[in-house]
Amino acid sequence: MREYKNEKLQTVICNKCGKVLTVENGILKEGCFRGKQTFDYFSDKDGEIHAFDLCESCYDDFVKSFQIPVSQKEETEFL
Ligand SMILES: [Zn+2]
Repeated sequence: MREYKNEKLQTVICNKCGKVLTVENGILKEGCFRGKQTFDYFSDKDGEIHAFDLCESCYDDFVKSFQIPVSQKEETEFL
C-alpha cells in the first residue's frame, strides 16, 4: 500500500508481510512489485480498482508458486 501527502510518495508498505520499504524524498529506494488492476464489466468486480505492493522477497515467494515462470528480459535504459 502507498500513502501520499500533497501528491508526494510518503510510505510504501508490503501488503503481504507488512515491511515498510525505504522511501526518500518521495522516491522508493527498494525493489517493489506494484500490482494494479481495474476490473471491468466481464468480471465479478465490475468497476473496482485493486492495488497492492509486494516487497522483493514476497514477490519472489509469489512467483515461485507459479506453474509457468514469469517472462524476463533485461532493461537497458532506466528512466
Ligand atoms: Zn513483503
